[in-house]
Amino acid sequence: TGCSVCFRRYICSSPPRSQSCMSAWVIDQYGTNGVLRYTEEITAPTIKSATDVMIKVCAASLNPLDMSMRGGYGSKLLKLRRDPLSMMNNESEFPLILGRDVSGVVVDCGSEVTYVAPGDEVWASVPPWKQGSLAEFVTLSEYEVSHKPKLLSHIEAASIPYVANTALSALVNTGGLCRDSASNKRVLITGGSGGVGTFSIQLLKAWGAHVTVTCSQNAEGLVRGLGADEVVDYTAGDVAEQLEKMERFDVILDGVGGDTEQWALGLLKPWSGAKYVTLVTPLLFSMDSMGLFGGAINAGVTLHNKAIQGVLSNGVFYRWGFYAPDGPALDEVSRLVDSGKILPVVEAHFPFTQVPQAFLKLEQGHARGKTVVTVA
Ligand code: NDP
Repeated sequence: TGCSVCFRRYICSSPPRSQSCMSAWVIDQYGTNGVLRYTEEITAPTIKSATDVMIKVCAASLNPLDMSMRGGYGSKLLKLRRDPLSMMNNESEFPLILGRDVSGVVVDCGSEVTYVAPGDEVWASVPPWKQGSLAEFVTLSEYEVSHKPKLLSHIEAASIPYVANTALSALVNTGGLCRDSASNKRVLITGGSGGVGTFSIQLLKAWGAHVTVTCSQNAEGLVRGLGADEVVDYTAGDVAEQLEKMERFDVILDGVGGDTEQWALGLLKPWSGAKYVTLVTPLLFSMDSMGLFGGAINAGVTLHNKAIQGVLSNGVFYRWGFYAPDGPALDEVSRLVDSGKILPVVEAHFPFTQVPQAFLKLEQGHARGKTVVTVA
């Protein structure tokens, strides 16, 4: 059990600066990197429900979503999701803490939490409607938290949860693959050298799938090292032309978007239940620009039209994939990591004092795995 006021008593002997304050990187308005502000005076999260778990953050990582959210992406829907009543009161979401991955130590739990206990090392992805992990503490629900793989350091562990929850949601819930059905399925991953791609290659290989990846020429060694069977260099001429020479695919996971969907559906096996799942969807952009209702309708019509077109042209499914928080799914990933089947791919890591520099790294693009921030 524990004390939800003096939450630090499990983790260090030094007295807290203030029992209700913690250090964090926050934003007070949307914008470019200049809006990031370090503070030691932000209210620490508390246990508000019987299933809450409070975690002392050891490491966090950055995802493209953090950069987009810093600029206001998704703000309308996320504000509604955070607190439906605040839409009526016009209450501000600021100061807002970014950071979608956490590896850390449980310091306090609600009375009904049974899966983890204070002192446990855990990892989790933090849903974008919750305060993020670029902070000393984060509070999540028990369902979102999982035991950290024993073989990984906190820095390594923080590189995985958000991309793992995204890949699992997209490949399993949307793409219809699973551990038992993926064997020998042909899967194409576009954008294979980034966070989602480097994780997805390894997951699919652990499940026995045949994996083809598109990436830049200088990432070929990385993705082959992670298990990719075939690699197509998208910078060496027409990528669609290169892929058309190959056997058709059962599932395509698209982490690039844009023009890709114009040619990708034609690469699927026709009339066999094959699915194209894109992670690059216009849903939140539509809601930001047209309002929640108008944006949802617009996105719904777009999705419907594309789905119909896919089925009518060659009997394939067109779908949008989304991140979904899921602690039990991370338990499965933890087992794969501890059995050596999935490795963390940490491209860069920064101390907590250099969060703005970590964002600049992210902004440069060309990710080769993940950028991690050590918090404590
Ligand atoms: P990253 O930034 O980590 O990786 C993107 C990778 O794609 C980089 O390695 C980049 O390297 C490569 N790339 C860029 N252009 C191409 C191209 N034309 N063909 C092949 N590879 C290319 O992003 P993530 O892996 O984290 O995410 C991928 C996408 O999925 C992002 O757009 C992200 O916003 C989205 N996403 C959506 C989610 C959802 O819920 N819908 C959840 C998570 C992610 P290089 O430029 O050197 O080739």
